[in-house]
Amino acid sequence: MIRLNDIIESLLSYHPKADVRLVEKAYVYSAKAHQGQVRLSGEPYLSHPLEVAYLLTKMKMDEVCVAAGLLHDTLEDTSATEEELTRLFGEQVCNIVKGVTKISKIRFSSREQKQAENIRKMILAMASDIRVVLVKLADRLHNMRTLGFQKPEKQKIIAQETLDIYAPLAGRLGIYWLKAELEDLCFYYLDPEMYEKIKNAIAQRKEEQERFIKEVKEILEKELTKAGIKAHIKGRQKHLYSIYRKVMSKNIPVDQLHDIIGFRVIVDSVRECYETLGVVHSIWKQVPGRFKDYISLPKENMYQSLHTTVIGPYGQKMEIQIRTWEMDRIAEEGIAAHWKYKEGKGTKEADEKIFSWLRQIIEESQQHLSDSREFLENVKMNLNLFPEEVYVFTPKGEVKSFPKGATPVDFAYSIHSDIGDRCVAAKVDGRLVPLDYKLKSGSVVEIITSSKQHPSKDWLTFVKTPRARSKIRQWLRRHEREKSISLGKEMLEKAISQEHIKLGNKEEILTSIAAEMSLQSVEDLYAQIGIGSISANQVIGKIKQKLHIKESPLRLVTKLVNKIRKKKTETKGIKIKGLDDIVVHLAKCCYPIPGDPVIGFITRGKGITIHRYDCKSIKEADPIRLIDVTWESTDEQTYPAKLMVLSINKMGMLADISAAIAKKEANIISANVDSTADNKGIAFFTVEVKNLDHLNEVIRSIKRIKDIISAKRI
Ligand code: MN
Repeated sequence: MIRLNDIIESLLSYHPKADVRLVEKAYVYSAKAHQGQVRLSGEPYLSHPLEVAYLLTKMKMDEVCVAAGLLHDTLEDTSATEEELTRLFGEQVCNIVKGVTKISKIRFSSREQKQAENIRKMILAMASDIRVVLVKLADRLHNMRTLGFQKPEKQKIIAQETLDIYAPLAGRLGIYWLKAELEDLCFYYLDPEMYEKIKNAIAQRKEEQERFIKEVKEILEKELTKAGIKAHIKGRQKHLYSIYRKVMSKNIPVDQLHDIIGFRVIVDSVRECYETLGVVHSIWKQVPGRFKDYISLPKENMYQSLHTTVIGPYGQKMEIQIRTWEMDRIAEEGIAAHWKYKEGKGTKEADEKIFSWLRQIIEESQQHLSDSREFLENVKMNLNLFPEEVYVFTPKGEVKSFPKGATPVDFAYSIHSDIGDRCVAAKVDGRLVPLDYKLKSGSVVEIITSSKQHPSKDWLTFVKTPRARSKIRQWLRRHEREKSISLGKEMLEKAISQEHIKLGNKEEILTSIAAEMSLQSVEDLYAQIGIGSISANQVIGKIKQKLHIKESPLRLVTKLVNKIRKKKTETKGIKIKGLDDIVVHLAKCCYPIPGDPVIGFITRGKGITIHRYDCKSIKEADPIRLIDVTWESTDEQTYPAKLMVLSINKMGMLADISAAIAKKEANIISANVDSTADNKGIAFFTVEVKNLDHLNEVIRSIKRIKDIISAKRI
């Protein structure tokens, strides 16, 4: 069993200034928290966090990460709380433990490739601190090493998940030894027969292989020395799973597979890498299409090497990797190779580390790469924490990816357009959230629907996916169309009944009218009426043509009269703020004329009636329905006004008054003459005047007649 001292020793070997007390404290806490718990192997539970912490020192992690490794199961399996961890070990340690716990709870149900890719991305995205992923990988490696104690069904599930998710994740972070060990362990549990077969076949050829490695090394060393290159050469057997993959992909029997030894040549400089390549190709024949230059085009995790495959001494293929010492270190350590322990105490913000690492990648890529923008994009997409994407789960454990800022509505439409159309709210990790809530990676999202719900225009302001956007637009278009269809239908039916037209086969007639108007269907015809681009009267006209209905003379006259009457009562001399083309009538109670102070009264269905400001009928009107109006100066139109004239009762008086009115160019519309009880003449006139001034002139003119007692407007 690993002991605390092993961990501390290992940590200090690469990070002499590490804060060892933090690790010691974490050890004491973890031992107490896990007290009494045992692993399936029968060992005390503490052995697991100790192994994980030790593995983390092998990955060259800082003391914060190592302490988190010791504590990684305390939140889940013991009575430890986040508050306590933060108080005792600081926020960073607590956040890492929290992140590991969160990832452990994810159910990986699907084995589908795309799903696995999503989960890998999601884990990276969820881990606000990259160290979360590294603790999780160390945890998984130890669990895989001790998988034999699990039940067989569980072994297969865990091994498959590791092969799908964690091994590729290790590769992506550049920790190839971890990737290889995980893959071999998975292989062992997933296909034990094949595993044994390959292992045995290789074991049988062990001596032969060792001889082969020695021979190749001697040839290469000799030639490189001649070229003046000092090199370190390693020969190694490839790991079993990669041999298995070759067997499967090339369909060769295991005992005939020769391409199982790989060579690595480590030199001092990049120049020597290319020189070595030249030497290798001069000794052995190159296999076409197998040369890869990861020096000028590094992998996204900054892996650099030259790879070539040649035909070796016995006519078998062998792969040779050529790299500098620095490249070798990066290939061995992966992401940790970029940790900088020399500066400070290694307890810097995790973000800072990731970004300094990114910066380094950028700097290096600029030295080597012609298209550094493309490279950077690649790094961002695959290695950085995917800031542009969020990954969430359905209640069934399916992973879905969305652009950053996506909402429950985007999620709902990604499941089904019906669910999108009807969603009213969502539950995120069991908590109710509104529809414009911004989803966060790692959440479980459940959509709540209602049959009464429907999409609204507002949704377009917050959805992020093109799918949701277009589905909402589709619904709105369809729905608005339905509204205009029913409105148009109602308008047309009303018009038909007003005209007293009996339609025998309405559908047939309307279909042919629609066709005449180049419309697809009767629904289209209704819709056009509904939105006002065709008037119901236009359609009535066409119906009449079809039915050969002629206007009766009486109807024609009535229509004409109505038209004239309409003209008479409608007025254009009134201006209403902000409203054009509104029907205006002059009130019959007070007969306002231009010049009178006036006010408008909004009548239901008849537009606006204009009253004099002091009209009695307005005094009691609902003030909400009153509207400010002003006269527009125009001489074209005349307005009726009523006058009452009192005079001495004598013959010819009516003619005199009429002449006085006519002299002022005002028309008399009506006149009534009567006499009062005390034998005075009384006359009522309705005259047409242009405005108030005109009316006053008329009145003055009347008053100038002899024997007139009074003349006034009523
Ligand atoms: Mn664990």
